[in-house]
Amino acid sequence: MNSISAFVAALGDIPHTTDAAEVRLRSRDNFAVSPLLRQALAGKAADLVVAPRDRVEVVRVIQAAVRHKVPLVPRGGGTANYGQSVPMAGGALLDLRGLSGIVWQRPGAARLRSGTRMDLLDEELRSSGWEVRIHPSTRRQSTVAGFIAGGSGGMGSAAFGMLRDAGNVTALELLSIEAEPRVVELRGRDVGLAHHAYGTNGIITEVELPLAPAWPWREVVLAFPDYARAIRFAVQLAKEAGILKKLISVQEWPAPAMMRALGGLVPEGLTAVFAMLAEPTRAAADDLVAEFDGRALSDDAEGENPFGAPLYEFSYGHGLRQIQKSHPRTTVLQGMFPAEGLVATLERVRARLGHLGPMRTEVFLSEGEVVGMGSPYFPFAGAEEMADCVRVMQEAGAQIANSHATGLRGVGIKSIGPREIAFKRDMDPHDLLNPGQMDLGDAIASVSTLPASGWRFRRDA
Ligand SMILES: Cc1cc2nc3c(=O)[nH]c(=O)nc-3n(C[C@H](O)[C@H](O)[C@H](O)COP(=O)(O)OP(=O)(O)OC[C@H]3O[C@@H](n4cnc5c(N)ncnc54)[C@H](O)[C@@H]3O)c2cc1C
Repeated sequence: MNSISAFVAALGDIPHTTDAAEVRLRSRDNFAVSPLLRQALAGKAADLVVAPRDRVEVVRVIQAAVRHKVPLVPRGGGTANYGQSVPMAGGALLDLRGLSGIVWQRPGAARLRSGTRMDLLDEELRSSGWEVRIHPSTRRQSTVAGFIAGGSGGMGSAAFGMLRDAGNVTALELLSIEAEPRVVELRGRDVGLAHHAYGTNGIITEVELPLAPAWPWREVVLAFPDYARAIRFAVQLAKEAGILKKLISVQEWPAPAMMRALGGLVPEGLTAVFAMLAEPTRAAADDLVAEFDGRALSDDAEGENPFGAPLYEFSYGHGLRQIQKSHPRTTVLQGMFPAEGLVATLERVRARLGHLGPMRTEVFLSEGEVVGMGSPYFPFAGAEEMADCVRVMQEAGAQIANSHATGLRGVGIKSIGPREIAFKRDMDPHDLLNPGQMDLGDAIASVSTLPASGWRFRRDA
């Protein structure tokens, strides 16, 4: 019996499938948004999918994997876009959506099972007047642990900062990958060890989060005469602490026209700002909009707009997805624009790359400062041309994560130092968690040739 057959036999009544077609299909995540990752990850698949129903079954799966040396790849909603949840060396894809629900809730805090879907979680929390502080634009598919292990920020970051910022994740409970799995609880800054680690240093079973008051949110589409005024408005809105917001996303013309679902809402030549504003302070934004020569084109209660999807599904990674529906060759880079000289840096990038396509910029907080994230939307014309864009953005002052590479070091959002390496070795001594995803060497391991710098944060210094 080979190790996979022995592992399958050891699973007993834990739900699993070895059906090749199904396993192949479920081994993909959303890496296809990148033309380079489509090539790099073609054919990578698990040998089987296992779907434990509770933590006890997760422990049994880990024990079987250790005994038979079978790689494990934790998986939530499978929405990751750098191939984070694609099995690099086969093994078992561990579908953790069965670990769902609220463990406990008290005012302003909740402890959740890791596979809880983010939209269902908010639905439940809102009945008591609370919601999660930050959710990704994939809220309707992604799980709370998948977001923490694979994502970085999103709706709510305009008020609370990125997931990595102090206070945004209170605690994580993880299981180590050993014959007798240990339950490890990370709190405070230690949470950062497992955040954005792509499931390579333990299986998250529970997540403790601070909550925010659940305001009624307005989805507002604003229009400005040009990108310069739109981005200045966006930065000022981010600074206005009295105006409660969840999303500020600047989409230069013709990006709004390329998003067909908007139905031609934005007049020709105007730059759109998609904003989610709390209803009680919504009107307070009007004077600011006027100051930058803008106007509101639509203003709907959350979930009631006429675009067929929530407004946040036109921002962050979803902006590209909307555009790819009619312009499939369009791609983007993952640029981070630091607070210092923010507008000037963005304008330098626009001046040098604007001929390729319109700028997309999310504006939010990182460690208390207003920063930007995005790049132009541009047609993919090969890895070399893309590398040129990276260089231009870096010269202009942007930091670039490599959204066209896979592997923790290749993407470069998380820095990996001695603490991270020691934690990985402690939690996964047999290197069974998606081997190949976390390179313990010093070199930048990348499947593509893009000269990305990674993102640098103050706390890494
Ligand atoms: C169109 C689009 C838009 C996106 N928008 C955003 C955005 O706004 N903000 C953002 O931050 N990201 C965004 N992403 C990336 C991705 O959606 C987020 O990372 C998402 O929250 C992942 O959640 P998931 O449940 O789908 O995780 P998965 O894709 O299943 O997994 C993500 C990573 O987490 C690991 N993982 C999953 N569950 C566990 C667990 N229990 N224990 C340990 N590791 C685990 C996986 O191994 C994988 O490495 C976007 C992606 C796409 C394709």
